[in-house]
Amino acid sequence: MEGRPGFTWQAYRDLLALLRANGYEPAGYDDWQSKARPVILRHDIDNSIEKARIFARMEQECGVQSTWFVLLTSDFYNVFSAASTRGLRDIMACGHEIGLHFDEVNYPDIVGNVDAIREKILQEADLLQFVTGKPVTKVSMHRPSKDILAADLEIPGMVNSYSKLFFHDFKYLSDSRHHWREPVLDIIKSRQYPRLHILTHAIGYGPTDTDLEQWARGFIGPAQVDRWDILNRNFTDLPSVLPRESLQ
Ligand SMILES: [Zn+2]
Repeated sequence: MEGRPGFTWQAYRDLLALLRANGYEPAGYDDWQSKARPVILRHDIDNSIEKARIFARMEQECGVQSTWFVLLTSDFYNVFSAASTRGLRDIMACGHEIGLHFDEVNYPDIVGNVDAIREKILQEADLLQFVTGKPVTKVSMHRPSKDILAADLEIPGMVNSYSKLFFHDFKYLSDSRHHWREPVLDIIKSRQYPRLHILTHAIGYGPTDTDLEQWARGFIGPAQVDRWDILNRNFTDLPSVLPRESLQ
């Protein structure tokens, strides 16, 4: 679509090059004030740490650092598994930072209770630190409710990426639902915003461009092979029961 990046790894590399060409410098949530035209590159890991790891490596090759937000409560990945821990350490080894991706839906009993939500965020950040071995000082919300956005949560010792500062005083651009709502490329070229905050979901990117249906099929389809591999590590002689090649 005109003015919008595609969903390929190359399209993302081109996006980074366009940012550079227009004077934007990749920045973190702590050091953006030292940049003339900061762009905060944020990634929420909603589905796959492995896909995140590949994308994070690519960013490192492009010479940029970013912040990766991880769910503790995902049904798709277990942050405490050996593979996840390795993946997150790989992402950190690329020079990126790990933050907490917080899903308020897991705490239906405290909806609207700002103090209790703040406490849960701090507890989850501690648990994530157990995995990363480093203090977790950034948080982003997974599918935030209007209430949690309006609360403009201040959390001791942490940066809220949905605070008014980063959500309103920066121009916020997101590829949520595999769709750039705004013509991101035109916005960058216009240079009209001095500060950008760009959210991408690595799971949506690959060697070739995909529409929403192809994206969903590409995520769901190969899952039986992934599940077979996990079962094979925990089950004697799975191939004699169900050969891997017999999977679709
Ligand atoms: Zn999310």
